[in-house]
Amino acid sequence: MQIHGFNKTTLLDYPKHLAATIFLGNCNYRCPFCHNSSLVLSPDSEPTIPEQDVLSILEKRKNILEGVCITGGEPTIHNDLPDFIEQIKSIGLKVKLDTNGTNYSMLEYLIKHHSIDYVAMDIKSSKEHYDRATGISNPQLSSVSSSVNLLLENLIDYEFRTTVVKELVCEKDIISIGQWISGARAYYLQAYKDSPDIIGSNLHGYTLPELKDFVTLLTPYITNVGIRGID
Ligand code: SF4
Repeated sequence: MQIHGFNKTTLLDYPKHLAATIFLGNCNYRCPFCHNSSLVLSPDSEPTIPEQDVLSILEKRKNILEGVCITGGEPTIHNDLPDFIEQIKSIGLKVKLDTNGTNYSMLEYLIKHHSIDYVAMDIKSSKEHYDRATGISNPQLSSVSSSVNLLLENLIDYEFRTTVVKELVCEKDIISIGQWISGARAYYLQAYKDSPDIIGSNLHGYTLPELKDFVTLLTPYITNVGIRGID
């Protein structure tokens, strides 16, 4: 497993858990708002941390930590992810997986084998605008939709989330997303913030009142909608 980042302690990445975060490189999307462009576009030029070093730190900290968040990049494009997760689970830590949902088969495998405890899946935009929001012409929507349906089965604790960028997600998209993931256990609108490491350019976020209006639009479809990243 090529690990490109390791945060030993965070309260932000795994809801209600004191966790460590592991960053894996590479991704099959090119979302213009992506804040980890170096991990996505040029992972081989990023420093790597040996897997054994990470596992031995987790072993030493297992009585302090409650879980591990695995993020990227897109973790599920790595075929050795299930084996890596098994090693973390054998330490006794819970695992939260961040994913764009394109690898339905691996997500299903991990859920059905009880290898993960929480999933945060991105919904990039409405189905109609998925290509624009992911920066690629074929965003594997059928696999993404299968992953959505799998999570809606409530076999595992999960959330959906969307980084809401003005140029990529409009009011109509928000309603379409609400209809798509209707009945979801939890959905978060993440405010977009500019950063020097994003893939695209000239992107803008919504204001807090605008995001609150989106929450109102989503209420007929999802009861638990939150806003993150803006006060
Ligand atoms: S934001 Fe998009 S490009 Fe960046 S890691 Fe996530 S899915 Fe990949």
